Amino acid sequence: MGSAVDRGGDRESRGRAMNPNFDQIKKTTDIVRVVESYGIALKKVGADHVGLCPFHEDTKPSLRVTAGKGLFRCPACGAAGNVIQFVAKKEGLTEREAALKLCGSIPGVMRASELPTAGEAAQPRSLPSLPSVDEATRAKLLARVAGFYAKTLFKDRAGLDYLKARRLDDPAMLETFSVGYCNGTLRNALPKAGEIIGQLQAIGVLNERGNEVFYGRVVVPIFDAAGNVVSLYGRRLDDEQPRHLYLKGGHRGVFNGIAAKTSQSLIVTEAAFDAMSLWAAGFHNAISLYGKDGWTADHETLIRENGVTEIVLALDNDERGREAADALENKLSGLVESVHRVMWPEGVKDANAFFLSRTAEDFRALLPQPVRAARADEETAGKEEITLTPEGFTLAVAGRRYELCAIEKPRRAHAVSGRGLCRTGAGKRLHSRRSG
Ligand SMILES: [Zn+2]
Repeated sequence: MGSAVDRGGDRESRGRAMNPNFDQIKKTTDIVRVVESYGIALKKVGADHVGLCPFHEDTKPSLRVTAGKGLFRCPACGAAGNVIQFVAKKEGLTEREAALKLCGSIPGVMRASELPTAGEAAQPRSLPSLPSVDEATRAKLLARVAGFYAKTLFKDRAGLDYLKARRLDDPAMLETFSVGYCNGTLRNALPKAGEIIGQLQAIGVLNERGNEVFYGRVVVPIFDAAGNVVSLYGRRLDDEQPRHLYLKGGHRGVFNGIAAKTSQSLIVTEAAFDAMSLWAAGFHNAISLYGKDGWTADHETLIRENGVTEIVLALDNDERGREAADALENKLSGLVESVHRVMWPEGVKDANAFFLSRTAEDFRALLPQPVRAARADEETAGKEEITLTPEGFTLAVAGRRYELCAIEKPRRAHAVSGRGLCRTGAGKRLHSRRSG
């Protein structure tokens, strides 16, 4: 327990050597009061309290809090747990940190029993004056953080070993998605105090104590249509909860959404790692949801704006995955021309598990017949395609697009610069080359 802290994530608290009594906290803490202290209005319905779930974009009150049992759950996004897990998830803390917080042993943080009730808390009990961060600054900082984590992946074996075990270590895939690892060293690369710390706290990269929220996680940035990093997804290497963590502030962007720019047919998975497995196997048109019920407005916009005509659902091979696929199929039927479903072989949990022991050929065989035929056409025909743009032209070769950006005339020779499109979406230059 609390390994994140013990491993050096937080040196100052080690001196205190606090060992929170989890059972005691769960028994004595009023979960309703804690939830309300985050500005979530709860209404009593039968034995439960219900309110808007803070873990997904909730429009109807989905969150159910059962005070008698000290538990919360949200059937819509699957979030569930006890009071410690609620605080951990809400604030991006480890469970130990959350427990310490609820014990009131963190200076400046009130004991859970002393938290104001909903009526008193006019606004969510917030941190002392975090700066407001504009969108451009936010995107710039997130890109830098993601870049730092991507470098860390190759410096600290832990993240890479984990990915390797899940067969997610294809170098091109890792580069394309700027996959990284957070081992707590970002803090060392930052100034001790000052503007940037406050900004990273406001964005949610650092918690209120200045520690990294994504500590001990593989981190994958999520981009918007313009190629800005708008969120981060973090997967814990061990199975400590929450296993899946997103940057606070609601789900934004679609993982590998840039695929919609070059493919009218998309494969939809539940999680980013499933889409990454598909990508590494050559299915570059895989995007992911935010969990089984995680279809967002950004997904819908992506489909509409890029004129996507076909969706292949490749959700998890379990009861809940199938239910979610049913619901999504209904939703999508008005949005695209055709919706298909991958029928996984028995015993295969999801796309990531599928590719642990199977090939791209095996997956192709699972695709519905019309999709398979269209894919074969795509692969054999039209290897090169040139599109004129105001600046020059783009050239598509074997599924990648290149854009001619500028022609300069330095002395006598013509120099041409170009860049690869459709890789990360970050506008990253992958094939920047000058030729005389
Ligand atoms: Zn929820």
